[in-house]
Amino acid sequence: MLRIAIQSKGRLYEDSTAMLREVGIELDDSKRKYLSKSGNFPVEMLYLRDDDIPGVVANGSASLGIVGYNEVAEKGYDVEIVEKLGFGGCRLSLAIPKADEYTGPQYFEGKRIATSYPRILKKYLEENGVNATIEIITGSVEVTPAAGIADCIFDIVSSGSTLVANNLKEVEVVLQSEAVLISAGKLSDEEQAILEEIQFRLESLRISRGKKYILMNIPQAALEEAVKILPAMRSPTVLPLAAEGWCSLHSVVDNKDLWEKVRQLKAIGAEGILVLNVDKIIL
Ligand code: ATP
Ligand code: MG
Repeated sequence: MLRIAIQSKGRLYEDSTAMLREVGIELDDSKRKYLSKSGNFPVEMLYLRDDDIPGVVANGSASLGIVGYNEVAEKGYDVEIVEKLGFGGCRLSLAIPKADEYTGPQYFEGKRIATSYPRILKKYLEENGVNATIEIITGSVEVTPAAGIADCIFDIVSSGSTLVANNLKEVEVVLQSEAVLISAGKLSDEEQAILEEIQFRLESLRISRGKKYILMNIPQAALEEAVKILPAMRSPTVLPLAAEGWCSLHSVVDNKDLWEKVRQLKAIGAEGILVLNVDKIIL
């Protein structure tokens, strides 16, 4: 049994549980219990506030955690990043009143900066030789300049719309973040084997992301040309058709290249092109 700490509600909750279900781990979070075992996989979920996740992983109360890298960096516990998970993307940035002219990090000299991330901010200020006052605020940091509590802010930004709504502009990106899988490294052999199974399944999700399965009928004479257009994992699958002189060609393509390939394939005589979603690719 391996215990995984995840956010109990909030921005990472949906994506974390969806990802675990995608790798075949059944979760019964309907009752929102603090601690609950999976019905089909040897893991137990511990639902927590995201702030507490790096700490419980560091002290061994959970073997793994899913949390924003921003929280990991802020808390400073000795945990390792096992996987970057590709969701929960955001950045920690400094933002100042829109009307102010930004002159570089020295702008912050003597300023009061509101943040929920004092540790990361302190490091940035030290590295840039800036003396500023850090006002620790746990929520609604973006309203503090208008409220006269601070001159500027250091906060999470994703689209930037919150900054615009509060008459602020982003001037320095200090940290890029996304959700990460963390561990304190001290796993038993049994836990290590479970982690490796999870990583194997995550890899198959990663490979299939952005991929489409494509199949079509193609004149035999155009087959060689079509294979050049569609490089597959090993090589495309070719199946004979009942109609003489035709075959069926199957392959996997990157979604970003799909329409360009479709155009090229039609130009050499492909017909009846089907494009399907790929759920998982296991190499
Ligand atoms: P909790 O109640 O668990 O402490 P919270 O209010 O601290 O939750 P959320 O707002 O749910 O945290 O955000 C969780 C994480 O989602 C952040 O730490 C960050 O990694 C990520 N995230 C992604 N985009 C954003 C965003 N626009 N604003 C805030 N967090 C974001
Ligand atoms: Mg929190």
